[in-house]
Amino acid sequence: MTRDEARARDAADPLRGYRDRFALPDGVLYLDGNSLGPLPRDAAPALADMAGRQWGERLIRSWNEGWIDAPQRIGGKIAALIGADPDEVIVADSTSVNLFKLLVAALRHDPARHTIVSETGNFPTDLHIAEGAVGCVAGARLNAVARGAISAAIDGDTAVVLLTHVHYKTAERFDMASWTAAAHAAGALTLWDLSHSVGAVPVDLNAAGADLAVGCGYKYLNGGPGAPAFLFVARRLQERLASPLSGWMGHAAPFDFADAYQPASGMKRWLAGTPSMLAMAGLEAGVDLWRAVDQQAVATKSAALFDQFAAIGARLNLECASPANPERRGSHISFRHPQAYALCQALIARGVIGDFRDPDILRFGLTPLYLGFEDVWCAGSILADILTSGAFRDPAFAQRNAVT
Ligand SMILES: *Cc1c(COP(=O)(O)O)cnc(C)c1O
Repeated sequence: MTRDEARARDAADPLRGYRDRFALPDGVLYLDGNSLGPLPRDAAPALADMAGRQWGERLIRSWNEGWIDAPQRIGGKIAALIGADPDEVIVADSTSVNLFKLLVAALRHDPARHTIVSETGNFPTDLHIAEGAVGCVAGARLNAVARGAISAAIDGDTAVVLLTHVHYKTAERFDMASWTAAAHAAGALTLWDLSHSVGAVPVDLNAAGADLAVGCGYKYLNGGPGAPAFLFVARRLQERLASPLSGWMGHAAPFDFADAYQPASGMKRWLAGTPSMLAMAGLEAGVDLWRAVDQQAVATKSAALFDQFAAIGARLNLECASPANPERRGSHISFRHPQAYALCQALIARGVIGDFRDPDILRFGLTPLYLGFEDVWCAGSILADILTSGAFRDPAFAQRNAVT
């Protein structure tokens, strides 16, 4: 694709208008929205209103003026993006904490089942949390196996199959419906981590018959650094599962100040402590931006951006680590290169922000709301220049930062 062709595709792009809804800095090509979504323009005034008016002026009265319902309200908006009903999703805590709550609840759900089945090489927190969860339930164990062995690992002892829908490194995507059916055939529940899916690929939890899910607010939802996360529990399970973090906000009547815990009905029981309203304001601004977005247009453009980037990579002899089939991948593209870290740093020095994942993955988020074909063209020409000039061999680019 030439630069002129890229411009023509941008001009004809039905999502083009969304770009102006983000405050992207000049001189930066942002290909890391899969790790931290950029600032929506509406977020700054929303945060200012939260601090200045809601907190500053309305003070504690704000709890009855929209704060206390924020977890359910924002959850309901996220539900529309993941094929769930509004009363099946709530915003709370972090993805890690939500994983813990749901994994322990799933392990306690059927005393005859003791095992969490998951994938080795999954995003580390998922496996770390699973380890912690089995430590909290007598007899429970974690069986993490390579992708090719998951199917055989699901058996009559499996309580829950924990899968990350889109792999954080390679962007490989599980077929949610068929894996859910396989888990159900063995009597197990499924827990889908949607961190790299929500806002990236079409998700239809209820059509797939999914049981449980969690997802991240600060990636494709653009909710701000460390934004609250969300969790989904299918309605049929809601009264049968209970959170191990039995905090007062999940109580049936928190302001009765009772000694004994009694879980709220519905999704409220997954709240633990008081939610951060400052963080909720950022998340709601990010989620609201998605309200009118045509998800199919996002998927179509994501696939086109991928193909464009994959062709650039092929010309540069980079090994693509992501699946060719758009139905089988998420919305990022990864290349393998022995100097992936230095390449990533050299790109950042030239204003092209992607990221590196140990040991050899160079990863670029393809976010159709604010990224266009000319952006990918420009990123590709800078990548070509860095590779052919050898600029990435500068020792300064080998210096590891704390966050990669
Ligand atoms: C980003 C991500 C998380 C994030 O977890 P935090 O608790 O927000 O740090 C969890 N799981 C997956 C698969 C992710 O990609």
